[in-house]
Amino acid sequence: MKTLTIVCPAYNEGEGIAHFAAVLKEQLTKLSHYDSYILFVDDGSKDNTYETLRHIARSDTHVRAIRFSRNFGHQMALLAGLDHALSDVVITMDSDLQHPPSVIPALIAEYEKGNDIVYTVRNDTESVGLLRRIIGKLFYWFLNKMSEVPISENASDFRLMSGRVVEVIRSDIGERNMFLRGIIRWVGFKQSEVHFTTGRRYAGASKYSLARLLQLAVAGIISFSKVPLRAAIIVGALFALIGFIVAIITVIQSLTSSSLPAGWATVVVLLSIFGGVQLIFLGVLGEYIGAIFDEVKRRPRYIVEDSVNITVKHPE
Ligand code: UDP
Ligand code: MG
Repeated sequence: MKTLTIVCPAYNEGEGIAHFAAVLKEQLTKLSHYDSYILFVDDGSKDNTYETLRHIARSDTHVRAIRFSRNFGHQMALLAGLDHALSDVVITMDSDLQHPPSVIPALIAEYEKGNDIVYTVRNDTESVGLLRRIIGKLFYWFLNKMSEVPISENASDFRLMSGRVVEVIRSDIGERNMFLRGIIRWVGFKQSEVHFTTGRRYAGASKYSLARLLQLAVAGIISFSKVPLRAAIIVGALFALIGFIVAIITVIQSLTSSSLPAGWATVVVLLSIFGGVQLIFLGVLGEYIGAIFDEVKRRPRYIVEDSVNITVKHPE
């Protein structure tokens, strides 16, 4: 019998996690030809999430839980789940019921057709606020324009991976600044997609503030594109050309007329444009250097404080 692990990151999901676990377990019992495990990763919750998980795990050894020493973020929680899910098939999903467990059989069906990665695409984003939808759209448009790997809009972190894909991510990809949605497309293998309709959050509130969403967007662009760095060269060259033309005009002007201060406006305009452009690209450089700084420090990507029904190895 093949083994299946469902990886579920949870951060302050105390209100709804027991219900989610029950719904998920119910769904998994229907998949009788798989030996299924649920691996919760408590991302340093400040509420009773971990106590609830311990309680569930005590009566069911197929439920496992890992607790981080603090909040390391959704992506790191997913990663810790992948690091510890040693099974033939791994599915990652949110623990707020927005990723409906009823979609799991469809993912498994695609896997059994020979796909190594089955990612999901949300049909609707009605339950998401307008501002977020706009930012999301802009982000994916921008990302796809710039990066080498296609990343579909409405992609979510609800996906299936075969054991060998998980093994690649576990042992060969050591980035600190991990943007899983990109990495998944980047690793290749046979991939297919399944559409689903986002459920309503069962309890609690979304943990992704607009600021965190923007942070994720920047991380995604930085880790998958060098275009912003190259853009500096192109825009810089363009402005240098303009500067050259203006210089020639100024020289001709100063030779032909005697009233010199006429060029004042030009000087001010050019100075401010150049200043602005330089600052923008200094910022871009700074982002990349910051990312390099994070990588070279080689700090652990997450720290595990406790676990139930699973032995945790030290992350690299
Ligand atoms: N999550 C996490 N760490 C965080 C933020 C969120 O593990 O720092 C979990 C959260 O418990 C949920 C999933 O990641 O299971 C998605 O988060 P959320 O539902 O808040 O995001 P949204 O669905 O609103 O994009
Ligand atoms: Mg959610």
